[in-house]
Amino acid sequence: MTAFTKNIPVDILDANLISQHDVHISVARLDKLHPIVSGNKLFKLSHFIAAAASTQHRTLITFGGAYSNHLVATAFACREAGIKSIGMVRGEIAEELSHTLRACTAYGMELHFLSRSDYKNTQLPAAVEVLQQRLGSCTIVPEGGYHPHGAHGAAHIMDHLALPPDAIICLAVGTATTLAGIVRSAQPGQHIIAVPVLKGLTDIPHRLDHLLGEGTYIMPEVVPDGHFGGYAKKTNALIGFMNALYAQHHIPTDFVYTGKLLFTIFEKIRNGHFAPGSNIVCLHTGGLQGNASLPAGTLNF
Ligand SMILES: *Cc1c(COP(=O)(O)O)cnc(C)c1O
Repeated sequence: MTAFTKNIPVDILDANLISQHDVHISVARLDKLHPIVSGNKLFKLSHFIAAAASTQHRTLITFGGAYSNHLVATAFACREAGIKSIGMVRGEIAEELSHTLRACTAYGMELHFLSRSDYKNTQLPAAVEVLQQRLGSCTIVPEGGYHPHGAHGAAHIMDHLALPPDAIICLAVGTATTLAGIVRSAQPGQHIIAVPVLKGLTDIPHRLDHLLGEGTYIMPEVVPDGHFGGYAKKTNALIGFMNALYAQHHIPTDFVYTGKLLFTIFEKIRNGHFAPGSNIVCLHTGGLQGNASLPAGTLNF
């Protein structure tokens, strides 16, 4: 079933299948915007792509790991816009490229491999500045689009959704760039629940200040223990949940972001965290290509 959307489809789940709690739960399917390129990434990139398109060199450089949704989305978006893309990859080149990096190459991205320590150094603000000076008019996109431009682009997700004025908007958090965009565009009656997928991501207020500029905005509720041990860590319970979710509701999720988000929110529903009548909307931010790194047969979709 689809409801209250402009053009991102929203699936309403039958909450009776989850529990006897009287809440409304739906999933905004940004993953349906493209089969490989996850929904939130294209939004985060939009302002960088526009910036690169307006320069003479029309070249964009970004950073990511061998399974990065951000890298592959950047490669795709640049190809669509006729912009040259360069990906700086964390870790030495492997004998066989990951499926993600092969997709990047297929979309025309030029890849450079950096040792983990060199990669870490390139993420320092001073290093980005040096790189920017050396590369002149190339457009540099920090890892994950973590920059005010990225947050600005992510704010447009809400233009494509018509959510209830009292919606409780739930989303997975990596760099918090998408979160900042949602915070920026949410209405005063809406509430935001952020589920970090990294252990120890305790600086969300600081990140929001960097991404949005200091000011007043709706502070999200942060769930600190929804990460399953850390970034890209998984348990049998998580995989079992993802398979059950697909069997019952036909929603595919990934084990790094949206599987953890939905697991955490379902658990909160069962624990009675939400008042009766709550309008819970989970953002499915895409990222399904990452599941290709799991052994065949792990998932039922
Ligand atoms: C990258 C990603 C996120 C995290 O987005 P941030 O803006 O870095 O917080 C969430 N979900 C999926 C599927 C992603 O690929």
